Amino acid sequence: MLCWQCEATARGVCRFCGRALCREHAQQMPFVLTVYIGEHQTPKAVVVADVLFCGECKPQPEPIAMPELY
Ligand SMILES: [Zn+2]
Ligand SMILES: [Zn+2]
Repeated sequence: MLCWQCEATARGVCRFCGRALCREHAQQMPFVLTVYIGEHQTPKAVVVADVLFCGECKPQPEPIAMPELY
């Protein structure tokens, strides 16, 4: 697999969109695994720090509601 940006050998893939990335182009970003309602009705997020990110895609900071699926 080759890097999406420079075609060097990829070391991993973007957690958000799946593009392959070499070490040089891999960026890091926290990844929101899940969000739940904690005590006092406060939404809480389970976050994985420093997952691979390509810098190209635009992950939203929070999950997007998709009411049309229901
Ligand atoms: Zn690269
Ligand atoms: Zn990406």
